[in-house]
Amino acid sequence: MEQTKSGRGRRIGRRALIIGGAAAAVGTGAAVAGDDLSRLWWQVPGVDRPRVAGAVDATGARWVAASSANWRRADRPADYTIDMVIVHVTQGSFDSAVKVFQDPEHGAASHYVVRADGHVTQMIRELDVAYHAGNRAYNERSIGIEHAGFVDRPQDFTDAMYAASARLTAGICARYGIPVDREHIIGHVEVPGTDHTDPGEHWDWDRYMRLVRQAAARTARA
Ligand SMILES: [Zn+2]
Repeated sequence: MEQTKSGRGRRIGRRALIIGGAAAAVGTGAAVAGDDLSRLWWQVPGVDRPRVAGAVDATGARWVAASSANWRRADRPADYTIDMVIVHVTQGSFDSAVKVFQDPEHGAASHYVVRADGHVTQMIRELDVAYHAGNRAYNERSIGIEHAGFVDRPQDFTDAMYAASARLTAGICARYGIPVDREHIIGHVEVPGTDHTDPGEHWDWDRYMRLVRQAAARTARA
């Protein structure tokens, strides 16, 4: 409807005015349609996004803050392109993973931890760079998902865990336009220079990728 469109245009106009100089500098001007501009507004360098305490990026996730020593504040995807999801296995229980990620001495943490029953805890915002891959460039471009369990115990990777993690990954791919393939959804073991082996030989990649594709198709239809 025309009226709705122009109403949205006016709102965007006001926001564009607030950041007018920066928007002009990156050339997001008149060629960009209204909906695109409303998304791009957040991607203008130098615009720090407001953060709401306890807010999560993934629907249904519970927020537990990781120690700020285990991640670095950023403004992704404005400052770093997010084009990768990295799959981990904790080599411990869900509770121990959540606990060590709150410990400033640990020096590492991931954005998400997935439990055997499919529960998802988010500990670092997707805006921020989590120290999970042991590789600075890969940390800056990725979202890290930990799965509770041990690489040598395939029974730890439950149906509920695969399904919840696949939904989570499909949502991340949709948010940042990440292709759903094994070039962009990788295991920690595939990060250059790593000595980690997770998620290990028992992680069923064929099944996982099939579930991610199915979840992505559902998201696209919704
Ligand atoms: Zn790992």
